[in-house]
Amino acid sequence: MQPKIDELKKIYDAFDSETAAYRSEAACTKGCAFCCTDAGSIDITTLEGVAIREHIGQMPGSRQAGIKKTLMRDMKKREAGRITPCPFLMKNNACMIYPIRPFACRRVYSLHNCNKQNPPLLNRHVVESAQKTIEALQRLDANGYSGHISYILQMLDSPRFLATYLAGDLKPEEIMDFGKSHRIIINKMVV
Ligand code: SF4
Repeated sequence: MQPKIDELKKIYDAFDSETAAYRSEAACTKGCAFCCTDAGSIDITTLEGVAIREHIGQMPGSRQAGIKKTLMRDMKKREAGRITPCPFLMKNNACMIYPIRPFACRRVYSLHNCNKQNPPLLNRHVVESAQKTIEALQRLDANGYSGHISYILQMLDSPRFLATYLAGDLKPEEIMDFGKSHRIIINKMVV
């Protein structure tokens, strides 16, 4: 799995270099967490989920237990139809997994200060580059899935799903009900 995670980081780096000139015009400031609270669903691929799990695995046990509870709470709130902030957003508006945050976070910036009436405004070239990057991430994770961060991490917590995924197999029938009810997408069908 490590070579794939290395490749994932190369894809992130390529997007960063390709769009740096545009993103240097961002109005974003440290401590702004609009994108982590109000800018839509934080969707990730399974491979990104594996990288995040590895990062979480290096945290103290009490924090890991706290994250599990937060993810469960987040899923319950979402299922009750509530808009939830990202489960990794801390009280001081910092990101708990910043070094390994997924592409859904890396691609967003804004040319103006955001609020509910003015969502993030991005340069068209960055949007196009982000779309190509998403396709590359899905190709890299061809035996994987995409969906909201809480659900993908929950799937990876299932020993059966994890074993299938790490073996390089794709058995959507194993997660059919879970996938349908939580809008999990099979990457093979997307690309
Ligand atoms: S992973 Fe981090 S950067 Fe991304 S939405 Fe969550 S808190 Fe924000």
